[in-house]
Amino acid sequence: MHTRTDYAPMHSKIKMDEYQHLTGDQFIFNEYWDDRLLLFSPVYGILVQIHTVYLNFISFSMIDFNADVAQFHPDLIACRRDLHQHPELAFEEVRTAGLVAAELRKLGLEVRTGVAKTGVVGILEGSSDGPTVMYRADMDALPIQEENDIDYKSVYPGKMHACGHDGHVAVALTVAKVMARHRDQIAGRIKFVFQPGEEGAGGALAMIKDGVLDDPEPDFALGLHLWQELPFGTVGTAEGAIMSGSSTFQVRIKGRGGHAAMPHTTVDPVVCSAQLVTALHTIVPRRVNAMAGAVVLSVTGINTSTYKHNILPEYVEVLGTFRTFNAYTSELIEQHIRDVSRAICESMDCTAQVQVKHLTIPVVNHPDVVKKLRRVFCRFMDEELLDNTARTMASEDMSYLLEDIPGMFLLIGTANPAKGLTYGHHHPRFNIDEAALPIAARLMCEALASYVIPNHC
Ligand SMILES: [Zn+2]
Ligand SMILES: [Zn+2]
Repeated sequence: MHTRTDYAPMHSKIKMDEYQHLTGDQFIFNEYWDDRLLLFSPVYGILVQIHTVYLNFISFSMIDFNADVAQFHPDLIACRRDLHQHPELAFEEVRTAGLVAAELRKLGLEVRTGVAKTGVVGILEGSSDGPTVMYRADMDALPIQEENDIDYKSVYPGKMHACGHDGHVAVALTVAKVMARHRDQIAGRIKFVFQPGEEGAGGALAMIKDGVLDDPEPDFALGLHLWQELPFGTVGTAEGAIMSGSSTFQVRIKGRGGHAAMPHTTVDPVVCSAQLVTALHTIVPRRVNAMAGAVVLSVTGINTSTYKHNILPEYVEVLGTFRTFNAYTSELIEQHIRDVSRAICESMDCTAQVQVKHLTIPVVNHPDVVKKLRRVFCRFMDEELLDNTARTMASEDMSYLLEDIPGMFLLIGTANPAKGLTYGHHHPRFNIDEAALPIAARLMCEALASYVIPNHC
């Protein structure tokens, strides 16, 4: 839908053109202006000439990635929908990996399969030497029964692409197709990494163990997540931490069970757990400085060793998670969980066994990479649509790939209330605005080109 009715100055029209392309409305926009060209042909003819001269002036050193992506647009959508219909869980991405490997081979990339079981790596070697830039996309789906009423609904019961990884794969394949076209201009190489098992399954670490960061060693790493917390048309990034690290804890409160009618003869772990849950929830606002890397701590489950109205159980398990933006805060919270658990349990004659597991570290962007790519993106997108302070408590194991390699992780806005696309990640009715897919592809092409195509300014 277009509300623009005036003729903007030429420079901003070019920017607007680009933006319309960027936001996926390119085809409608061109038809719109073509219609008006007939009505205003004398004036518009002159404007078009100036426009063409201007574009010729600037295009000698620029590749029109927008046009490239637009050409692959039907394949991009078809690929995403095919993957959406055929979701595969962590380390079971056999069909997906097969499709990815076949596409990459068709493009003439050097392809490695079976990296961390179902992972695929494709190397697009340029025509001269230069940096190696890694672009990672994750492939796995979730154990969720899809409730969307769409014609490309999951055909596998209890499995669903409810996080957008179908789109990640489709976008990365489109970027591979576009960049392969410009192989002659590439100085260096692009390492496309299709990762299995991102959803808490340790896929990134498994790939690192299988050598994904060697031969060739990446100089930079890029990745993105289609993001339902941001409105369609916007893009989020941040210098430093953009996604939190994730840890889980479990406290087993051991008491002494017995008859519920004679609680004084028992050591009741249920009452103890109630006090512990309350105390754990005070750690974040009361024991940790709110400025020390924003944190969340949630108790997510309580299990009793028996579940009957007249039995006091022997033990109770309290389960939870916490998220932080730095390792120091993470260690601090772990220590508080241990201290609070021990103190509360001792005060009620119970004992506490505490287990803490750090699942992922925070996703940390390199400030120099963010600064550079922000400049690149602002050449063709409205600065106001680029949120430089995006941060989320969700986690991503791209963090491990960015741990020692400077890079950037982007969040691409996909929510669109006008289309009813508001359900969040991991919801049975999660779905994205597909118009965000070409935006994501364009941004990644531009980002990669800024590293490996020397004359692409
Ligand atoms: Zn997810
Ligand atoms: Zn995800």
